[in-house]
Amino acid sequence: MPRLSRRSFLAASTALVARPALGAPLAAAAADFDVVIVGAGAAGIAAALRLNAAGRRYVLIEAADHVGGRCITDTGTFGVPFDRGAHWIHLPDSNPVARLTPGQGIELYPAPRSQKVRIGLRYAREGELEDFLAAQVRATRAIDEAARKSDGACEQALPNDLDDWQPTVEFVLGPFAYGKDLAQLSAADFSRAPERSSDAFCRQGFGGLLAARAAGLAVQLSTPAIAIDLGRNVAVQTPKGTIAARAAIVTVSTNVLAAGGIRFTPALPQRVREAFNRLSLGSYDHIALELNGNPLGLDSDDLVFERSADTHTAAILGNVSGTSLCLIEVAGSFGGDLSAQGQVAMVDFAGEWLAKLYGNQVTKAVNRASATRWNADPFARGAMSAAAPGGHAARAVLAEPMDDAIWFAGDAVHDTLWGTVGGAWESGARAADAVLRRLNGVREPSAEEPRSSRKRKPVRRHRLEGFHGTPRIMREE
Ligand SMILES: Cc1cc2nc3c(=O)[nH]c(=O)nc-3n(C[C@H](O)[C@H](O)[C@H](O)COP(=O)(O)OP(=O)(O)OC[C@H]3O[C@@H](n4cnc5c(N)ncnc54)[C@H](O)[C@@H]3O)c2cc1C
Repeated sequence: MPRLSRRSFLAASTALVARPALGAPLAAAAADFDVVIVGAGAAGIAAALRLNAAGRRYVLIEAADHVGGRCITDTGTFGVPFDRGAHWIHLPDSNPVARLTPGQGIELYPAPRSQKVRIGLRYAREGELEDFLAAQVRATRAIDEAARKSDGACEQALPNDLDDWQPTVEFVLGPFAYGKDLAQLSAADFSRAPERSSDAFCRQGFGGLLAARAAGLAVQLSTPAIAIDLGRNVAVQTPKGTIAARAAIVTVSTNVLAAGGIRFTPALPQRVREAFNRLSLGSYDHIALELNGNPLGLDSDDLVFERSADTHTAAILGNVSGTSLCLIEVAGSFGGDLSAQGQVAMVDFAGEWLAKLYGNQVTKAVNRASATRWNADPFARGAMSAAAPGGHAARAVLAEPMDDAIWFAGDAVHDTLWGTVGGAWESGARAADAVLRRLNGVREPSAEEPRSSRKRKPVRRHRLEGFHGTPRIMREE
């Protein structure tokens, strides 16, 4: 592999977008760049914006031919924005990704704060919905309580009075919220996630919003990092040449890292490799159906669950942003098994499941269909990071720099907002701040320093909703 200079590396790339990212040159810099950022998802974009603002020389490389990672909007398949990855903008008032620049043509609006539940061919009545919401609250409190004692599986903490609602509660709190069954989910992780008391949607898609935030950044697309060598500098090997930088921020998903998607020399410490596995991504996919004539009779962005006899269920997000697009959300082990069978099986499931809940005529209304399969995407290998039982502490392991030269960032590297675009963004910005301090000669506390001396903010949390919305009861018409 030829070792390219910064100039020839830039020239070699056919996918250089916008202007090159050159800040004020450093005096005695031996490396081509101050920082190389690997991955242009939310974390990588946030890191690049920070370094750009600080006038540092950085390069942002991305394996795919587009930015956004697990937060991308597809406008080609249906002619309307289809978020293939993240869609709910959680806590929009404090979500850093939701900060808009006027004139970018991006519109956010509040997500409806209600849920409907289908029981067979009818909607749940008011009393039934109250029972469902109360069961969610009991389950959430029990998991929070259990997490105070140990970081076991959420499932072990479930109270035994959830009755008929147990499978639905398990689906809503586990796969639907975090991509993993409650048996595979850390109670400590769950209990530290903040109440998602408000959500917003973006009319241009969440991916459209993230791409707008990245506008003007120089990104080397179709440039996967193959290997990262730590010597005097950090050397990142790509098919287009090797980039030498003083530091690296690596934002690729834990599943890509656990699968050896990037070779590190020297090998990463065991505890870091274990952290990738403990913070693995769960499974979550959208089966998108374009339906003629609103056969489900839903309002814009209605969220519907099923009172199900088991967790082999799904959720409906109806008439996305007022379009005829309905998303059938499949997740957790059931969703993962289904997506392994391929798009046809996924679309068949969606049709049969909707027919069970709304009648056979629904399947005749399907015009076009498409399903995401994030587990099969080589640059993601899953949906969102959620700690395995006992795994929450691994988030702190990934937050520590390696030899003051490599920082990990992304949705696995956030103590509370893990598994979200906002969390990934914040972790990328924090990694960039830490790198900037290091470049300016400020040392971070080392990993060995007792963490007990670092105060943690208590997390206020009492959610009444299951996940994306708050619990306002939707009455049957
Ligand atoms: C279906 C689905 C639904 C979701 N729903 C929501 C939601 O509603 N709200 C929410 O907040 N979050 C949601 N999430 C989670 C959210 O999308 C992620 O947490 C977030 O986008 C992760 O950002 P990131 O920057 O950490 O990682 P990524 O987005 O994965 O970015 C990493 C980047 O690295 C690139 N890459 C991989 N390997 C290499 C390599 N070797 N070299 C260079 N580049 C590489 C990837 O292509 C990618 O662009 C959802 C995710 C999915 C999949």
